[in-house]
Amino acid sequence: MDQYAVFGNPIAQSKSPVIHQHFAEQTGQQLEYGAQLAEISDFKSKVAAFIQSGGKGCNITAPFKELAFELSQSVSEEARIAGAVNTLIFKGDYIVGDNTDGRGLIADLKFHNVPMQGKRILLMGAGGAARGVLLPLLAENPQKLIIVNRTVEKAQQLAELIDSPVKICGVGYADLADKPFDLIINASSASLSDQLPPLKANLLNKDTICYDMVYRAANTPFNQWAIDNGVETTIDGLGMLIEQAAVSFEIWRGIRPKTSALRQLLRDQLLRAA
Ligand code: NDP
Repeated sequence: MDQYAVFGNPIAQSKSPVIHQHFAEQTGQQLEYGAQLAEISDFKSKVAAFIQSGGKGCNITAPFKELAFELSQSVSEEARIAGAVNTLIFKGDYIVGDNTDGRGLIADLKFHNVPMQGKRILLMGAGGAARGVLLPLLAENPQKLIIVNRTVEKAQQLAELIDSPVKICGVGYADLADKPFDLIINASSASLSDQLPPLKANLLNKDTICYDMVYRAANTPFNQWAIDNGVETTIDGLGMLIEQAAVSFEIWRGIRPKTSALRQLLRDQLLRAA
């Protein structure tokens, strides 16, 4: 049977095996999907051993996305801009790297009917996640995309890297003009440590849509801040997690699984575990 796996550290918490087994059953594909714990020192050799044992592809999570990028013999444009790979495709010994985070985010935003064309978008963070979603976001033709980051230089460098007809710039939090955005995406890891980036309330109004890539049973600090300031629509990153996996599955198996049932299943699990 075709073998797939997710590599990470830690890995026991990963939802990828459940997600991909669900996709396999739903689409009638014969495959096995496991979880592999690695260390920085043995990540590349463990991937090589997985290929030797007949592995067809794998997902990569923290802290190995940059190492997976190095390991790839060719990469997609999204992975190149991100400098990070979350999906490996093995063609014999030849390794192709892709980054499906951005397509996953866009699929989730579309699932929630979030308009992007002609809109003013604020992207918070300039790490791997922000870099990975940049090109697919720009492809939706927003009016303007501002990248804001705690370390300002990283936001500026990222904006300069991109050649796009869309107006794009990189700034620090103190530089943000007092004008509401249509969509604010939190691609920083601040919520993971229960922190909120220094945002002013006049960056949003009730129609601003706030999206946090972090997900949990309760609202993330960013989404709670948005609600406290009158925002009507907040979304967390559980749907993005599922959709980026669906894109990986399609790359490997040539068939795009449906995600609605899994969305409900994983949300219920999250609430039960809280
Ligand atoms: P990185 O470590 O590469 O980058 C972290 C980013 O967050 C940096 O820009 C950093 O700023 C910023 N940051 C961290 N703490 C704060 C803070 N207190 N205030 C303001 N900014 C802060 O992480 P990733 O880019 O890989 O991941 C970011 C988040 O996205 C993670 O929480 C991850 O779980 C989530 N994610 C979710 C996915 C999903 O499918 N739902 C997929 C991928 C990621 P600085 O440069 O100044 O250090």
